[in-house]
Amino acid sequence: PFDTLVIGSGPAGCAAAIYTARKGVRTGLLAERFGGQVMDTAGIENFISVPETEGPALAKNLEQHVRSYDVRVITAQRAAKLIPAEKEGGLHEIVLESGAHLKARTIIVATGARWRQLNVPGEEEYRTRGVAYCPHCDGPFFKGRPVAVAGGGNSGVEAAIDLAGIVSHVTLLQYDPVLTADEVLQNKVRSLPNVDIVVNARTTEIRGDGRKMTGLSWQDVKDGSEHSIDVDGIFVQIGLLPNTDWLKGGIEMSRIGEIGIDERCRTSIPGVFAAGDATTVPYKQIIVAMGEGAKAALSAFDHIIRVPAA
Ligand code: FAD
Repeated sequence: PFDTLVIGSGPAGCAAAIYTARKGVRTGLLAERFGGQVMDTAGIENFISVPETEGPALAKNLEQHVRSYDVRVITAQRAAKLIPAEKEGGLHEIVLESGAHLKARTIIVATGARWRQLNVPGEEEYRTRGVAYCPHCDGPFFKGRPVAVAGGGNSGVEAAIDLAGIVSHVTLLQYDPVLTADEVLQNKVRSLPNVDIVVNARTTEIRGDGRKMTGLSWQDVKDGSEHSIDVDGIFVQIGLLPNTDWLKGGIEMSRIGEIGIDERCRTSIPGVFAAGDATTVPYKQIIVAMGEGAKAALSAFDHIIRVPAA
C-alpha cells in the first residue's frame, strides 16, 4: 500500500505528489493526463515568475518534475470509487475503472474540473482562437477589442464587469429572461457604459474566417428571431463542472459537486484530502491549484505522523 495516493495529475495533483515524495512518504500518483486542463490552454501569462508559457510546455515540466522524484506514476487509469477505511488509521481503497484496487493510508483527490460548453458549431474549432472560458486568464489577450460573454449568472456577470475594463465592448448574452447574478453585481454591470445585456438569447453558432473567431449568432428564444454580432471572442461562463461524480454519496460536497474542504484541505473523511478545481476553494487558477496541492500534501503528512496505523 501507499502512504499517500494522489488522484489526478493536473497542477494540484503534481504539486501534492512532489511535496509528499519530498517528505520521504511512499507516494502513488494516478496520472490519467499530465497537466489536466493546462493541456487545453494556449498562452499562460499569469504563472508567476514565468512571464509567458504555453499549456503543453508547462504540462511537460510538471511531468518531468514529478518523475525526478520517487513517485510511482500509474498512467492511463481513472478512479471509479473510493472505499473509506473502516477505522481511523486504516487503509482507504480506490477502485479503478479497470476493476483494480489500490490501497493507501491517505488519499489526495485532485481530479479537477471542466468548463461546461455551449455545444454549438464553431465552439471546438475556434477554442483558444476566440472561444475562451477563463476571464482572469485570457481577458488581456482581447485588450481594446469587442467580445461577448455567454451566461448571466454570477460568473458571467463577474466576467462582463472584469472584461469591460480591458476590452472595447462586451455583449452579455443570457439564455434566461433575467440575469440570475447577485443584485450588487447586476447593478454594477448595468452601470457600465460599454456593456450591452441581451436576455432570452440562445447562442447558436460561433463564426470565424478559418483562422480565428469573427462573430457569433444567437436566437431570441421568445420570438424566434435570429441575430448576429461581430466579436473577436466569447467567454463561455455557463458553469464549471467538478470531476467528482465518482465520489458522490460518500464525501461532503457543495450543491454543484465541489468537494468541501477546510483551510487544511481536509475533507469530511479523515485521511482523505482534496485540492484544486475539484474543491470548494475559490478562484480556479493554476497557481492556486498548486498551492492547494502543496497544502493537502503537508496535511496528509501530518496525518501520517500523528494518526497511528490501524
Ligand atoms: P485539472 O487541471 O482539471 O486536472 C485534473 C486531472 O485529474 C486531469 O488530468 C484529469 O484528467 C484527472 N482526472 C479527472 N477525473 C479523474 C479520475 N476519476 N481518475 C483519475 N484522474 C482523473 N489558469 C491559470 O492560472 N492561467 C491560465 O492562463 C489558465 N487558462 C486556462 C484556459 C483554459 C482553456 C482552461 C480550461 C483553464 C485555464 N486555467 C488557467 C485554469 C487552470 O487550468 C485550472 O485552474 C487548473 O488546471 C486546475 O488544476 P487541478 O489540478 O485542480 O485540475
